[in-house]
Amino acid sequence: MDQTDVGKVSRLAERLACHSCDLVFDISVLDDGESASCTRCGEFLTRYRADELERVIAYSSAALILLGLACSYPFMSFKSSGLESTMTLPQTALNLWHYGLPGEALLVGAFIVLIPGLVMLLMLMLAIALVLEKHYRWLRPVGRLLFTLQSWCMVDVYFVGVLVSLVKIGHMATVIMGLSFWAYAVFSLLFVLAISVLDRVQCWHRIEVLSRP
Ligand SMILES: [Zn+2]
Repeated sequence: MDQTDVGKVSRLAERLACHSCDLVFDISVLDDGESASCTRCGEFLTRYRADELERVIAYSSAALILLGLACSYPFMSFKSSGLESTMTLPQTALNLWHYGLPGEALLVGAFIVLIPGLVMLLMLMLAIALVLEKHYRWLRPVGRLLFTLQSWCMVDVYFVGVLVSLVKIGHMATVIMGLSFWAYAVFSLLFVLAISVLDRVQCWHRIEVLSRP
């Protein structure tokens, strides 16, 4: 890649058609932190941040570390009538399996740990490659997989569900939140931040420029 190509990578995507009404816009005039929406239908188009990829690397790498912690330590403990029970995050899915609900166990395991972890890993790989301005053959397939899987992650939904169930369980037993609970709470926050920072239009533009022969 010569110097001209390197300059192109850091430049904004120039023209973009609205997904809803196909009106075409010149979005190369956006400054750092500015976003664009369709003037005809109001559909969000794109947001440009100069440090977008660096933020994605920071959020996704920290999220992966916290997910590892969340899977390694007790999620929460219950105390009632002198009995104590401790549960880890993977056990929330394994318990469903033991109760004869293998489908639900697989879905819970996939949606709260496996897919979110894979999304963060793919996002980290992609952001590092784009920051280094290196072309790899896996850039396009990884980009497609990443943006497809994003809509199948239910990290925030799961965490809100846990909080709601805690209110109910709190009347029947003493609940102690473990290290994993707090790690997963911060992981959920970082996950949402990473997803919201990575702009699909800007990301695909960078991939397209790097993929040019
Ligand atoms: Zn529109």
